Amino acid sequence: MAEKYKRADGRDYDETRKMEAKVGVVKRADGSAIFSFGKSQALACVYGPRQFHPQHLQNPEKGVLRCYYDMTSFSVPERKRPGPNRRASEISFVTSRALETVIPLENYPNSVIDCYILILQADASTRCAGINAAALALASAGIPMKEMVSAVSVGKIGGAIVADISKDEEDYEIVKDGKTIKSATDIPFAILSRSEKISLLQLDGRIKPEDLKEAIAMAKKVCRKINEIQKKALKKIKEE
Ligand code: UDP
Repeated sequence: MAEKYKRADGRDYDETRKMEAKVGVVKRADGSAIFSFGKSQALACVYGPRQFHPQHLQNPEKGVLRCYYDMTSFSVPERKRPGPNRRASEISFVTSRALETVIPLENYPNSVIDCYILILQADASTRCAGINAAALALASAGIPMKEMVSAVSVGKIGGAIVADISKDEEDYEIVKDGKTIKSATDIPFAILSRSEKISLLQLDGRIKPEDLKEAIAMAKKVCRKINEIQKKALKKIKEE
């Protein structure tokens, strides 16, 4: 029988790295938060809603949520060239889609809500840390949200379905036919708190339908825990 996959840091399959959430960290912003999964740490700042400029971009029927994701140059071991790139544009796009679904944008005609997400240090799953921080920043900016949004990556590594993938896990390799190949599957999810609808599902790698079902169930279970941490962080700022 094949040996059961053991996570390098000793975590259970459904266990995340240490999570930390703090709201109200940037006073100039209308809403802000920090969220981390272990060494992956995201800062999110929300400005708005305010009138959308230039005027020709305004939509009289609904407002727009714009999320901007970026990593600081020294957030990763190999310095990242400053400024946006294709990866950041893609993550900004999917983050906006994952979050806008819970905001009644029809209440904000001709307006824009900007959300800047900066990764301060990265050890994989940063888009999920960014979504968790951004959801907190939006809520703390007083923007009504139909539901909270929580995000986690779930993967298949060494034959096991595991939550909150670290960089080491993402780089997991096996030897097949004498060749060393990357074999991790990484699925970032965002789940809405009440309906448990999925507002983000990306797939990097391959997965069988039955394993995907297990991954979805695990993402929902873990996002319930993340949601509790988000709620606590929001409650704390109200009490302060
Ligand atoms: N990464 C890096 N340099 C880059 C982009 C990514 O070192 O320019 C690392 C970083 O640790 C990141 C990880 O690769 O968290 C995984 O990146 P991916 O694109 O899968 O997104 P993420 O898992 O962070 O959402």
